[in-house]
Amino acid sequence: MSDQTIENVVVIGSGPSGYTAAVYLARAGLRPVVLASSVEAGGALVTTTEVENFPGFAEGIMGPQLMEQMRQQAERFGARIVYDDATEVELAADVKTIRTINGEEYRSHAVVLAMGSAYRKLGVEGEERLTGRGVSWCATCDGFFFRGKDIAVVGGGDSALEEAMFLTRFADSVTLVHRRDALRGSRIMQERALSNPKIRPYWNAEVVAAEGEDGLERLRLRDTRTGEGATLDATGLFIAIGHDPRSSLVAGQVELDADGYVRVAHPSTQTNLPGVFACGDLVDKRYRQAITAAGTGCAAALDAEHFLAAHGLADADAAD
Ligand code: NAP
Repeated sequence: MSDQTIENVVVIGSGPSGYTAAVYLARAGLRPVVLASSVEAGGALVTTTEVENFPGFAEGIMGPQLMEQMRQQAERFGARIVYDDATEVELAADVKTIRTINGEEYRSHAVVLAMGSAYRKLGVEGEERLTGRGVSWCATCDGFFFRGKDIAVVGGGDSALEEAMFLTRFADSVTLVHRRDALRGSRIMQERALSNPKIRPYWNAEVVAAEGEDGLERLRLRDTRTGEGATLDATGLFIAIGHDPRSSLVAGQVELDADGYVRVAHPSTQTNLPGVFACGDLVDKRYRQAITAAGTGCAAALDAEHFLAAHGLADADAAD
């Protein structure tokens, strides 16, 4: 990419919010550059199975296919998708600078932040060491390796329930370890999971260590009410305890809340910096659905478009 070119707008991220922003910006003739990531393009939905609640797909659609279609839709209108990762940004100046892991530098008048969120870790002994050797965050990626095994899933939300149900395709048994005795997930998912004969809930327990020599062999648990210890034999541990916003790239420049979410001036997507807009899971700690992320991605594109027009900065192709 030329170092002199100043783009209209760069979108950082390629989940439902980033790609939706790209569709709208491209369709407005603004030729957005989308930094889609080198390894995680498509965002969290790429690691899920069937998406049943994205409107417009009466029979459901596979997560990776949905994201592929969003990408194609953005490209059809002229978005330039780049499989590279932003590693450093300077967002305060009128012309924003974004540097990537591949050594490229982009300059733009506006930026849409859509980096989404990352899997939360338990932070217990053995978790890091046994990652990829029994400990995983992605049932659709790794479930296949647990055919005929006894495994555990930690968490009580929809993600944990979805992972547990998916894993019953392979595993002999799935123990759902939850720190309370009531699940957080939606009623329909709870009913499906708890009626599955391979899934056994293990209430009021937290994982305090993952143990094993070359691979996971057992979990050490603690009763959250009594503090009593227990051991659970398992060769797989799938951690599904939520996500944290991926805001470290912009920390110190863009205002964040106490939990690390980017602050925006609701109902707009405007951050504290002019020309910088944020959307999707990066700003949303309440809803976190693919469709709400897409909705705020649309809003961020409209806000960016308005900003560029109001400042006479938009270098637009002839719009349709
Ligand atoms: P979530 O709803 O925030 O649930 C996280 C779960 O992990 C909670 O049960 C929480 O326990 C537990 N937890 C958090 N920190 C923990 C820790 N350190 N140790 C042990 N347990 C811990 O997250 P999510 O399940 O990833 O879902 C996120 C959003 O995506 C939700 O809005 C959900 O509805 C949506 N989603 C929807 C679908 C679907 O519709 N098919 C699928 C996946 C996700 P507590 O309950 O005690 O807080």
